[in-house]
Amino acid sequence: MKEYKNHFEKLEKIKAGKISLRENIEFFLKRIREYSHLNCYNFVFEDCIDRADLIEEKIKNGTAGKLAGMVVAIKDVLALKDKPMTCSSNILRNFVSIYTSTAVQRLIDEDAIIIGKTNCDEFAMGSSNENSAFGPVLNPYDNSRVPGGSSGGSAVAVAADLCDVSLGTDTGGSIRQPAAFCGILGLKPTYGRVSRYGLTAFASSFDTIGPFAKSIEDIAIVLEVISGKDEKDSTCQDIEVPEYSKYISTDKKFNIGIPKEYFGEGLDPEIRDAIQKQIETLKSQGHNVIEISLPHTEYAIATYYILTTAEASSNLSRYEGAHYGFRAENSGDLIDMYTDTRTLGFGKEVKRRIMLGTYVLSAGYYDAYYRKAQKVRRLFKQDFDKAFEIVDVILTPTSPTVAFKIGEKSSDPLEMYLSDIYTTSANLAGIPGLNIPIGLNKDGLPIGMQLMANQFEELKLLQLAKLIVNKENYQ
Ligand code: GLN
Repeated sequence: MKEYKNHFEKLEKIKAGKISLRENIEFFLKRIREYSHLNCYNFVFEDCIDRADLIEEKIKNGTAGKLAGMVVAIKDVLALKDKPMTCSSNILRNFVSIYTSTAVQRLIDEDAIIIGKTNCDEFAMGSSNENSAFGPVLNPYDNSRVPGGSSGGSAVAVAADLCDVSLGTDTGGSIRQPAAFCGILGLKPTYGRVSRYGLTAFASSFDTIGPFAKSIEDIAIVLEVISGKDEKDSTCQDIEVPEYSKYISTDKKFNIGIPKEYFGEGLDPEIRDAIQKQIETLKSQGHNVIEISLPHTEYAIATYYILTTAEASSNLSRYEGAHYGFRAENSGDLIDMYTDTRTLGFGKEVKRRIMLGTYVLSAGYYDAYYRKAQKVRRLFKQDFDKAFEIVDVILTPTSPTVAFKIGEKSSDPLEMYLSDIYTTSANLAGIPGLNIPIGLNKDGLPIGMQLMANQFEELKLLQLAKLIVNKENYQ
């Protein structure tokens, strides 16, 4: 097993000669082979071990970067130069990136080691990782169940100790929900905190990049490294990046909002009880728990799926077989080639979303759907602005259920979309959200709890989470 709880402990042990980085990477590579049935990696970079000795030396002589020796897996929608990037889609089966995404480059610049690229739902569209051209990812707690999605591979790689930390992306819950299903931490940062340069666009005004880990320390240090202004992404904000990892411990008492709309019908009673227990503990520790209302919650799924499919239909128009990726053979004229390429190259869910998105943007329906949804999006932001006038953090379930069975929801898209009920609001409002594992249900499956804070207040999430995960109920 891993002989350290977080990156800082690992560094100490490497410095003291108790851990060899080479052996540590070998351990992960061997374990990845042993657990290949989980199907969480699309590509493993065995040659990453070549950097081990150099980085170990840098650690020992004090010249190493902040993430020295951290073994990181990245979701296969993030570009890494000269490595394949498929987005788990057949349309990009043979695509090799010609540049590196900013978030990944920042990890590398701080001496992290990229061990591979993880499986996900095709173009990050899904909640179960079943929409992947590489096949489904299995939940390590119960192999007949899904790991959540769309960043299922990234969540499983961390949960099963097949890397130290991973990066995922979250457009409507794709970091927080798989983190909940796999019993680990997963942070969706504020929109504009982390550069999206080199992230394959799904819904550009929603997409964010964030870490999965087993400790708050690791989440904090990775966030600190990947955040901040980037000339290559104009939506990335020039707002100072706190040294999150230095300030995660606090004895501050928080004002915690509990939105009543998140505890209604459809929530698994065992999840409700587990969260109630957490709330009681927080109260007994002197935090101030306040019932609040986020009145537009019931419109989250509809608003989210109108706006994200609209953006997706536009973003995905670039895959037509002419520039890169898969091209259908033996088609007639150019239009036939486009049609055949897209018909064969995209999976079912991606095509459904392109059609839905094209429809809501089409003349005659634009006002009724797209424009209206944009207006409703503003109301979500206003709900949260009002709530954050009185609370520091909002506490909710992450998902209405624990990990469901493979195949259980795949034939009913609406049922699948409903599993995003508690996560999409944060993306509509652009605010950060964090999943915290709070224990297992009676079948031994992880239960997740979500914390949300106002824009750029990730530190509050980390500080409160640190107080919660310190307790014995953390798995
Ligand atoms: N499950 C949501 C969807 O299918 C969220 C996806 C995501 O966050 N990338 O759109």
